[in-house]
Amino acid sequence: MAMQELAKVVRANRARMYARIRELVEVESPSENREAVNRAGNVAETWIKALQGHLKRHKSALYGDVLEARFGPARSKRGRVLLLGHLDTVWPIGTLAKMPWRETGGKFWGPGVLDMKAGVVMALEAVAALHQLEMMRPVTLLLNSDEEIGSPASRAITERIARECSAVFVLEPAQGLAYKTSRKGVGHFDLRVRGVASHAGVDFERGHSALLEMARLVQQVSAWSNPPTGITVNVGVISGGTRSNVIAAECRAEVDVRIVKAGDATRMERMFHSLKTTDKACKLTMSGGINRPPMERKPGTVALFRKARSLAKEMGLVLEEAATGGGSDGNFTAALGVPTLDGMGAVGAGAHADHEHVVVKHLVERTALLAGMIAAAD
Ligand SMILES: [Zn+2]
Repeated sequence: MAMQELAKVVRANRARMYARIRELVEVESPSENREAVNRAGNVAETWIKALQGHLKRHKSALYGDVLEARFGPARSKRGRVLLLGHLDTVWPIGTLAKMPWRETGGKFWGPGVLDMKAGVVMALEAVAALHQLEMMRPVTLLLNSDEEIGSPASRAITERIARECSAVFVLEPAQGLAYKTSRKGVGHFDLRVRGVASHAGVDFERGHSALLEMARLVQQVSAWSNPPTGITVNVGVISGGTRSNVIAAECRAEVDVRIVKAGDATRMERMFHSLKTTDKACKLTMSGGINRPPMERKPGTVALFRKARSLAKEMGLVLEEAATGGGSDGNFTAALGVPTLDGMGAVGAGAHADHEHVVVKHLVERTALLAGMIAAAD
């Protein structure tokens, strides 16, 4: 494998890669803002067209367009590789004013730089290098627009395209220096208790506190956490009541659930749906479920990782393997049984945090490794 050749081409084009990362970071694209995400999509579209990619923009009523770009020969004996990324970020419009693009200490800083605008640019640079060396195979680059809010609109598109592919490479940030071969599944539940309000002094006994009832439910669901099995239940938000002298009529809680095994999804959903109030005058309603199935560590994914490790070795790099509790669109593709390797984007730290950055010195080698994997995967 021509890893040195690939690295050389990527390195020769690095000024373009760095400039593009900045350009994309400077187009803010929060998931909830359709027009803003589409502006980032327009930037990516220009680059896709410059690489002679066949582009389809999947329109959505609520979110930005999902960009599906096909590269390489239309007919080939070789399977199609899916490069999976997203254009949206968690950062609201105006963040750049407080957290502008910066280049200091060998790092690029800015909202969404690590998660995952650098990864999007790396994918295009990997395709460009393969073009230049005439090593292209069929590749689809899919850029979603709603990943940071759970991929409600793009999930079906991702799953449909993944089914046509023999491998999926996810451009989410690396974990330290490692690629990710497993991810926890993610669920979200919204609990609402409606009680009976009354005056805490005048009419105490006529009230039924939604808060007290919710407190019991919080205890109950929190006890389902069992870290050794990978199951965690976190009640992260709770709100309710109006004043201290009123017995609370309403209370609401938001719960995050993580699982490691696919079979735990229905089990946890069943447990949540079997919850009952202790005080029968309080009514419980619930919505939600397991949104992302776990990405289990399967043989196809492990085989991809081993290939990546040996290509990395050719470049003098040691590639580690990691598991994470966070979800990505890779959870969906892995659950379909398509070998999925994740964390193939940039190296850095501070995703979703004020100190979000990528480490510049890893960009060339990681992009070359991604290109090598596109060429080498079965
Ligand atoms: Zn991401």
